[in-house]
Amino acid sequence: MAVVLAMAAALWGVGWLMQASLRARAAMLGLLYVVVLGLHVALPEGHPLRENTGGSAAPWLLLGGAVVLVLVYREGLSRLRARAAQRDQAAEPPVTGATFSGEELERYARHITLREIGGPGQKKLKAARVLVVGAGGLGAPVLMYLAAAGVGRIGVIDDDVVDLSNLQRQIIHTDAGQGMPKVFSAQERMAALNPHIDIRPYHRKLTGEIAETLFAEYELIVDGTDSWPTRDLINRAAVATGKPVVSGAISAWEGQVTIYDPVRGAPCMTCVFPDPPAPGMAATCSETGVIGALPGVIGAMMAGEVVKEIAGAGQGLRGRMLIFDALYAETRTIALKRDPSCPVCGPGAAESSDRGGSRNGF
Ligand SMILES: [Zn+2]
Repeated sequence: MAVVLAMAAALWGVGWLMQASLRARAAMLGLLYVVVLGLHVALPEGHPLRENTGGSAAPWLLLGGAVVLVLVYREGLSRLRARAAQRDQAAEPPVTGATFSGEELERYARHITLREIGGPGQKKLKAARVLVVGAGGLGAPVLMYLAAAGVGRIGVIDDDVVDLSNLQRQIIHTDAGQGMPKVFSAQERMAALNPHIDIRPYHRKLTGEIAETLFAEYELIVDGTDSWPTRDLINRAAVATGKPVVSGAISAWEGQVTIYDPVRGAPCMTCVFPDPPAPGMAATCSETGVIGALPGVIGAMMAGEVVKEIAGAGQGLRGRMLIFDALYAETRTIALKRDPSCPVCGPGAAESSDRGGSRNGF
């Protein structure tokens, strides 16, 4: 048997020296195998050729069987890999405009220089689709920084119009834009800042009827709203569609930022705030007042989290909430945990979502 194996090795070596293809060398070995097996079948027992090639066909059949098993296993593996790669391709958004123009390269140069973003991260930003709910205090800086950062498609939904009292902090809107729907005023400024992006304004209220369909078109949701019912609706639709929510909130002198994402282990909003605030406690900016720069600070942090999230840079605020107290210039971060019995993202969510649905009718 050793003689045949030595012959096989010699054939392989000669093939390699002659630069024969892998397939041709494998065919030579296969031929040798067939000849040896043929000898065992054709020649009588005890024939010297049979004695010198292992004595019986059994070890050769075993060897052949083992090789076939290995080949079948490898073929199966490569098919599985091909299928997985196909699935990944289907799941990932197509990287549109995988190349940048010279103008874009210069525009995003400070991002591309960053090791954590670089060219690949900037391409991901260009291919990204982000929906911002609310074009007010938090939405203003988020939208401007996302536009500047080159996020390829930015959706913005808001049914409000620009009011004089907004201009103390909502710096995306202008004095001349008073009375204009906020989404169109925002679109104008964003397009003026970066003409290379696709801006989708939705001048309407986010409702339970459209939330899930709209969310499905985006990979990440930004919550810059200030009403509890809308936040609750965003949370439910995001959980239902499996989208992470970069969420910010401000009141008077204090703001907070976090990422709700139960699909990836972080809590949803209901895990953290299970009950709606008591009537009269959910004061909006118009009731309590707000320092104008605060939404700038919190909104810029939210935009930073979005960029990190898309580029896969650093550590996001999943499972953590950053709280900023502007009056005393202090920040602190608290840990957030998922509620295993959460009615929105917990195991019993299927039945309770029906009840939630009617609550979201506004
Ligand atoms: Zn939850």
